[in-house]
Amino acid sequence: MKLGTITERLARDRYNLDDGPHIEIDQAAARAAGAGPLLERICPAGVYSVGADGAISVQWAGCLECGTCLAVAPPGVLSWRYPGSGAGVAYRQG
Ligand code: SF4
Repeated sequence: MKLGTITERLARDRYNLDDGPHIEIDQAAARAAGAGPLLERICPAGVYSVGADGAISVQWAGCLECGTCLAVAPPGVLSWRYPGSGAGVAYRQG
């Protein structure tokens, strides 16, 4: 069985939307720590993007719940929790 590219494999997953964001950014803390480029670089799902004004956008609906951003973000930058019951990513192999 051919596994395909990472993008093709991620496209098999399902995302059940939560009622609201499970990730929030403290923009002031993120600017002070220069965290935007780091978050943009480490997220495997491309959830974070830094705008021209330096603000960080969070496309939380595509989060893979890997926890990497929570592990590397400077203290006080992220508020992160798992999506509510039944929401979030559902991994699919076939
Ligand atoms: S938990 Fe993983 S996939 Fe979700 S935003 Fe953080 S780094 Fe990206």
